[in-house]
Amino acid sequence: MVGPDGRSVKLSSNENPYDPLPSVTAALAAAATEVNRYPDTGAEELTAELAARFGVPAEHVAVGAGSVGILQQLLEATAEPGAEVLYAWRSFEAYPLLAELSGAAPVTVPLADEVHDLDALAAAITERTRMVFVCNPNNPTGTVVREAELTAFLDRVPDHVLVVLDEAYREYVRDAEVPDGVRLYAGRPNVAVLRTFSKAYGLAGLRVGFLIGHPHVARAVRKTMVPFAVNHLAQAAAVASLRAEDELLDRVERTVKERGRVREALLADGWTVPPTEANFVWLRLGEDTAAFAEALAAAGVSVRPFAGEGARVSIGSPEENDAFLAAARAFPRRNG
Ligand code: PMP
Repeated sequence: MVGPDGRSVKLSSNENPYDPLPSVTAALAAAATEVNRYPDTGAEELTAELAARFGVPAEHVAVGAGSVGILQQLLEATAEPGAEVLYAWRSFEAYPLLAELSGAAPVTVPLADEVHDLDALAAAITERTRMVFVCNPNNPTGTVVREAELTAFLDRVPDHVLVVLDEAYREYVRDAEVPDGVRLYAGRPNVAVLRTFSKAYGLAGLRVGFLIGHPHVARAVRKTMVPFAVNHLAQAAAVASLRAEDELLDRVERTVKERGRVREALLADGWTVPPTEANFVWLRLGEDTAAFAEALAAAGVSVRPFAGEGARVSIGSPEENDAFLAAARAFPRRNG
């Protein structure tokens, strides 16, 4: 998608706008010389690095082909026909697709003012519920649930339900009251945490995600993985990224700063934008959604529209964000 001045700005997939680090591309080049061999299907080095990084035993870690791949595996492992999978809506669009693929019935509870309504979610649990997804921060609203309400919710969830804390955007969180799921899962056998290398670590194209949970959950993920699903290049890049964490988190900090600047600029321009702890902002636009996305596309900026609801706009580089802000400013209406 190219705008009138030849610009093409992709802010539609919550990707990391920065190029891979030199140490990561060097690791990829080295790993490329071994692609005639099968990858380590147990991803032992990566698993050990993750276990050390999070201070958990290696048997609590399972890697997969993106966190979306792990979600599919979890559903395959636990959701038989007649089972229910529960989550807030709107949230990550893969939840209904994967639930239906697994034969489970998706059950949704509406967000309240763009935020998870954990009381309503707890009340919607039945004997048939197998899994609850809590997306924190939530995609596409960027909103969060905080420690007191989340732990109260976890205490109410019965043992037959697995709670998956989807923390794809965790590294962008700056609100100190938002708990790190890796701290919460300890002592709660029916809670697992899902993370990804696709966002803060900038490896979306390589497809690596991981789960941290109790051994029976991690084992279920390992068992349901297509053999060799996390390839050799992906494993090497993920290990190199963990070793370059300081540099990568520096880039995350830039995105966090830009997020603040973009939201402030939008508010100053008269837009209503919920507070966001992720690498995107949410504009509830209702019937204006399609027109807004088209106007931005004409200016060379692609955003993610959800028909009749709103648009999610990723935080890009400063120049990309300026292009978005200028295009949004030129849109004749505001939301609210
Ligand atoms: N969870 C959430 C909330 C997401 O937004 C995404 C990506 N858009 C994912 C999981 C999947 O990420 P990946 O499969 O790239 O790890």
